[in-house]
Amino acid sequence: MYNCCEEHVDLAIDIVVDETELAPVMVKLEAEERLSTTCDFCNEQAIYKISG
Ligand SMILES: [Zn+2]
Repeated sequence: MYNCCEEHVDLAIDIVVDETELAPVMVKLEAEERLSTTCDFCNEQAIYKISG
């Protein structure tokens, strides 16, 4: 599972598809979750959670 910002959504989806070979599940984080969650690929606030 990866947390990612708007910019890194495509990257996170690619990695999840590579790892799981399944269609990824993309969930938009709630506003308060975003405040405490950082993108796994940069230091921006995460907006989405991507899992396989
Ligand atoms: Zn990012």
